[in-house]
Amino acid sequence: MISSRSVITIVGGGFAGTALALHLARQSGLLARADVHLVEPRPTPGPGLAYAPGPPEHLLNVRPGPLSLYPDRPAHFAEWLARQPETAAAVPEFAPRPLYGRYLAQELAALLGPGGARWHPAEAVAAPLGAGGRRAVRLADGTVIESDYVVLALGNFPPPPPAGSDLAYLAHPRYHPDPWGPGALAGIEPADAVFLVGAGLTAVDVLMALHRQGHRGPVTAVARHGRWPAAHGPAGLSYPNFYAELAGLPTVNGVVAVLKHHLRHAAAQGLGWRPVLDALRPDLGRIWAAWPLAEQARFLRHAAALWAVARHRSPPQNAATVAALTAAGQLRLLTGRVVAIVPAGPDLRVEVRDRSRALAAHRARHVVCCTGPLLDYHRIAAPLVQQLRAAGHLLPDPLGLGIQTDAHGALLGADGRPAPGLFTLGPSRRPAYFESTAVPEVRQQAVALAAELAARIATGRQ
Ligand SMILES: Cc1cc2nc3c(=O)[nH]c(=O)nc-3n(C[C@H](O)[C@H](O)[C@H](O)COP(=O)(O)OP(=O)(O)OC[C@H]3O[C@@H](n4cnc5c(N)ncnc54)[C@H](O)[C@@H]3O)c2cc1C
Repeated sequence: MISSRSVITIVGGGFAGTALALHLARQSGLLARADVHLVEPRPTPGPGLAYAPGPPEHLLNVRPGPLSLYPDRPAHFAEWLARQPETAAAVPEFAPRPLYGRYLAQELAALLGPGGARWHPAEAVAAPLGAGGRRAVRLADGTVIESDYVVLALGNFPPPPPAGSDLAYLAHPRYHPDPWGPGALAGIEPADAVFLVGAGLTAVDVLMALHRQGHRGPVTAVARHGRWPAAHGPAGLSYPNFYAELAGLPTVNGVVAVLKHHLRHAAAQGLGWRPVLDALRPDLGRIWAAWPLAEQARFLRHAAALWAVARHRSPPQNAATVAALTAAGQLRLLTGRVVAIVPAGPDLRVEVRDRSRALAAHRARHVVCCTGPLLDYHRIAAPLVQQLRAAGHLLPDPLGLGIQTDAHGALLGADGRPAPGLFTLGPSRRPAYFESTAVPEVRQQAVALAAELAARIATGRQ
């Protein structure tokens, strides 16, 4: 397809791609000058992986305000919730994720169609740069979209194998490699012993789904820090922003020292630690970016796992279920690292090394990998990623967090310069921001990138 108008192709129609499409449409006159294509193979564009249909116990881990698609209309999602049959009577503090998926799908549906954006229900497999400076976005169904701007909104990839060099367990029918895939927990009988590798929000999701389907067998989880995600505290507590004391600090220790001071101060006021961390949230990217690579690596080695416990919190009702299952003796949490998973007839043997380096073996009928998404773009095998990586237009970062980008989300090529017409947003931008995963951060990226693309189109810049 050749067009004289500017063409923007968004690859990925989950939250990030949807938010970008909607914010592009809000740029004055943009849809009169540009065609917007959205490429998403799922049957409904909008929900993506995180907000696809699933059990109602899979809850949003953020209250409604920051989940509005439009930061300038903070009540938009809460008002939408108040109109839904399930939630009209009482808008929940933490709504089911599939409901949020419906919100995204409905907002997007209003944009798709004549005069709006065009949806292609297919996977994009390549986006080579042509001689004329445009990219030919090739879809698995044979469609080619000649594009001036291509935005990768690819989201989260399934977790990598969690253990060992002998990967025979990957072929075991009771090893569950992708906790988010369709039928992820298929075949788990109520009395089966289940082992969860990881104890973050994904493991909590798996527990909630098992609990809902009447699971009564023992469940063991393991995490290096031996902690479940902290629960959200009450709404409405706040602490003043103190970024001015942190600006430009080049070491993790320097930041931690200031943080500790404020944690003590908040504790003395009876506020607890949560509002202190929340006060820093808008500035986390700048704090991260001020650290040299060695310091970022130090944070990942020593503090990131604990940070995740405090920052990525559970809705209180899910935390209460985890506590009740633990108290009942059905659930236990180990501290340690899985070093091997070995098929053992109908079961799997999981070998865990604890902090004292002692090794213990645990037998389970099912093992579910809950270690979190694969972000290392050296290892991502999706055809589009492979093609762009091989062309030198997509550079994974040295810490294995995502893609190297400039301040606008333009992909940096091997020469350190922005690859022409190629952008990304969402979790792929973790090297620049570290916290680049949740809706509040990603929607901000969508607003900024929409404005940037509109400005480039207006001035003819790629
Ligand atoms: C299970 C889960 C629960 C979460 N819960 C929350 C929450 O409660 N609150 C919160 O703030 N954040 C949550 N997150 C964080 C999440 O990363 C963001 O909220 C948001 O969903 C990210 O949107 P995305 O568009 O980047 O990714 P996704 O929603 O994963 O969407 C990416 C889309 O890209 C498509 N895609 C990938 N490759 C191609 C290709 N080659 N061609 C075409 N399409 C392609 C995929 O099909 C997918 O639909 C959750 C994440 C997960 C995994």
